Amino acid sequence: MSMNILVRFPLPPVIISGRNRITIPRAKSIESSPLMDQPKKVIVCGGGVIGVCTAYFMAAKGAAVTLIEMSDVACAASGKAGGFLAYNWCDGGPLEELARVSFNLHRSLSEELDGARSYGYRALTTLSLTVKESEGSTASRFLPSWIDGPARSPKTIGTPETTAQVHPQLFTRTLIDRAVEKYGVKVEIAKLERVEVEEGRVGSVVVEGGRVLDADAVVLAMGPWSSKLTLLSSVFRVYGLKAHSIVLDPRDGSSITPHALFLSYYSSERGGALDPEIYPRPTGEVYVCGMSKEEEVPDDPAEIKGNPESIAMLKRVAKSVSSHLGEGEAVVKAEQACFLPCTDDGMPVIGEVPGVKGCYVATGHNCWGILNAPATGAALAELLHGHSTIVDLKRFSPSRFLLPTNLQTLRLCLD
Ligand SMILES: Cc1cc2nc3c(=O)[nH]c(=O)nc-3n(C[C@H](O)[C@H](O)[C@H](O)COP(=O)(O)OP(=O)(O)OC[C@H]3O[C@@H](n4cnc5c(N)ncnc54)[C@H](O)[C@@H]3O)c2cc1C
Repeated sequence: MSMNILVRFPLPPVIISGRNRITIPRAKSIESSPLMDQPKKVIVCGGGVIGVCTAYFMAAKGAAVTLIEMSDVACAASGKAGGFLAYNWCDGGPLEELARVSFNLHRSLSEELDGARSYGYRALTTLSLTVKESEGSTASRFLPSWIDGPARSPKTIGTPETTAQVHPQLFTRTLIDRAVEKYGVKVEIAKLERVEVEEGRVGSVVVEGGRVLDADAVVLAMGPWSSKLTLLSSVFRVYGLKAHSIVLDPRDGSSITPHALFLSYYSSERGGALDPEIYPRPTGEVYVCGMSKEEEVPDDPAEIKGNPESIAMLKRVAKSVSSHLGEGEAVVKAEQACFLPCTDDGMPVIGEVPGVKGCYVATGHNCWGILNAPATGAALAELLHGHSTIVDLKRFSPSRFLLPTNLQTLRLCLD
């Protein structure tokens, strides 16, 4: 895997002003009234954005939810991601419906939770640019004035109707706080060790130290750690792609306009293009990410550190794009890394684990987990009652990985 990718694929449409204008339907209303006479006891494992959205929507439908997280809510990718959202960038692929429904749910959640104030939800214009370090700076009348580096070939690839952003850590924490306050979700810091299965049905989970928590249903939302559980690794593989990011606080934040930037970046020392992304936030901070590479995921999220040369490259990108983001002009508030949860076919895995009634999995969301978390959670909340109507989950089912050899390993693991 090369050292440069955090590419969102397929490429977004180029917008030619005013023409391919899009009208986005409102989110289908999500039934939040309790559907159960006897609330189902659900344990959600993993306090990233996927686990938190699932806990929120399941509890809103009346389940008695406990979320267990081994470190801290939003301590991993869900706290360190860009938080970029796009309505139609997954069109034509298997994520189309999930992404469209989720984009709309983000908008309605933001209205409900005052997202603009509590987690920096806002609509954005999104540009693609080519930046070559070897070329001189150009002030283009097509670009906002803070982009004063050698930027060429600007294209509008998202409008405020089709692209938006959240601060992912604040989003995840706001949602879990609301789930606790409004729907009685319990949050426990505990590490899942195993799921106990009796006669093909989930019965309980065991956490580190041997404590047993009874459950009618369990959701495994452990991001890139999913493969550490044999129950899942016997069916499919989730691997981690380590990606880097920095957060800058420019002295003159007011000059930074709400434009997300997707770059083809040519450094004068490296061959080939890098694909970093730059997201200004409403607070005036600017988030820059890129530089990814497949690496072993450490057991403890707190042990994840950025590689110095990748962090240095992101600083160099920021400075080349804008003089406002260079050393002396901006304070570096964070230098960090985290892991994208990836699957072998590039698609998320959402659904019931084959052979284990009541055990669900939601992982492998790759570079679109912040976007696709609300629809994932809302669809799983419906699946708990038999069938998801807001998104067809069939294509995301873990059973797509079931080869006869996997089935054999899964049987051994359940015996
Ligand atoms: C640099 C970068 C930028 C990104 N930008 C965007 C973006 O702009 N837009 C977008 O949509 N997506 C983006 N993503 C992708 C997004 O961040 C991920 O897809 C998403 O955060 C995955 O969420 P998750 O809940 O599956 O995993 P995680 O956030 O990794 O959460 C998993 C949680 O499970 C916990 N856990 C693991 N094992 C156990 C256990 N045994 N017991 C208890 N708890 C456990 C972990 O501690 C962790 O908190 C980006 C990712 C990166 C790396």
